This record gives sequence, structure tokens and C-alpha cells, in this order.
Amino acid sequence: MLNYGRHTFTFPCPYLYLSMSVNFSVKGQPGFANWMSIQFKEEQDHAMKFINYLLSRGGTPLLKPIEEVKTEWATPLEAFEDTLEYEQKVTAMINELYSIALEEKDYATQSMLKWFIDEQVEEEETAQGIIDALKMIKDNGFGIYTLDKELASRTYTPLAAE
Ligand code: FE
Repeated sequence: MLNYGRHTFTFPCPYLYLSMSVNFSVKGQPGFANWMSIQFKEEQDHAMKFINYLLSRGGTPLLKPIEEVKTEWATPLEAFEDTLEYEQKVTAMINELYSIALEEKDYATQSMLKWFIDEQVEEEETAQGIIDALKMIKDNGFGIYTLDKELASRTYTPLAAE
């Protein structure tokens, strides 16, 4: 949760991606599971970036209970559609924060948020790309198998090393 001026923001938790990762593992799709577990790690880094920024500005990050998330997705397409929807929600919150930072003439926060604005473009593009592939594949088993192999190659890059 984030208080900013008169506004309060509660960011959705990337716990959703851990749940998706577990669900893919249970179904024997290790590549999709890998992609989601890396997504989960990267989102935790993004949360830390917000927390550290707030601390550096004398703010107080408030950690709230994590809400229960969905645990079952019928198809990879359904999971990636939920991923895109989640990322779009995050994008909308970051845009809202940016518009408040403009209103408040808070230049430091505007600068910090620019990183997230660029990051969200990438996040949405990546999710959309996988959705497009899954729509082409439909229920073709070999296609799903091949995409699973491809997503197995995603590796985790810690934020500081980027
Ligand atoms: Fe994200």
C-alpha cells in the first residue's frame, strides 16, 4: 500500500505468478512454470524498487495481508490473458501515480516512475506476444510442447545487473 498526497494505492501482489507457476508445474509444463516463476521474482524486485524509493524519501511503506489468488487455469492461454490483464492494471496505477507526481510538481518521483512506465510497455508487449502465439497454436499439442520448451529458456536477471 502506498499513500501519495491525498491518494492511497494498493498494488496487486505478484503472488498470482507464483500460483500460475505451481499450476503449470502440476500439469507437467515446466517451461511455462519457469517463465512464471521468473516473472514472480522480477515482480518482487519491482516491489523492492518502490519500497526502497519510498524509504529514501522518508516515506513509510505499509505491508498488508496478501489476498488469495486463483489457483487453477484451464489453458496456458487463460493464464497469459490473466497476466496481460494484471499488467494492464499495474500500468494504470503507475500512470495514475505519474499524473499525481505531475500535479504535485514532484520531479524526483516523476523520474523514478519513468523507469516503470518503460518497463510496463515491455511487460504488456511480452504477454501479448505469448497470447498471440497461443492463439495460433490453439489446442495443437506439438505447438504447446514447443512453446513450453521455448519459455524454459527464460533466465532471471537481478535488477541491479540490468
Ligand atoms: Fe509486471
